[in-house]
Amino acid sequence: MDHRLLEIIACPLCHGKLSYDKENFELICKLDRLAFPVRDGIPVLLENESRALPSEENK
Ligand SMILES: [Zn+2]
Repeated sequence: MDHRLLEIIACPLCHGKLSYDKENFELICKLDRLAFPVRDGIPVLLENESRALPSEENK
């Protein structure tokens, strides 16, 4: 995914920075413990599309 895109996108809930999980193709919000999917290179920043991260995955 484009790293410049990663710099401008933010979590829709807390507006914090997201980190990209290259292995799972997800954008991670560490504060909300949510993972947003990236489909065909497009981040899907919708709360109802995200999944909650278990605490052990909260890197
Ligand atoms: Zn957040």
